[in-house]
Amino acid sequence: MTEKIHCKKCSMLLYFGEEIKRRLYMRAIPCEETVLGFYDNKCPRCGSKLTLKTVDVQTEGRKKYVAR
Ligand SMILES: [Zn+2]
Repeated sequence: MTEKIHCKKCSMLLYFGEEIKRRLYMRAIPCEETVLGFYDNKCPRCGSKLTLKTVDVQTEGRKKYVAR
């Protein structure tokens, strides 16, 4: 699973990578709010305040592997 976080206002990509919930063990990125904290809770492009309500969090399922 991969996860993407975009600013809802300007579509700036704020995070892309392994699903955040599954990274708990790494203690690097415990939750989405921590990612927003990396940006001081402010979008670097449009200056919009970043909260879980103003960002778009998408988690993607498995890609279509040819599993053989
Ligand atoms: Zn933005």
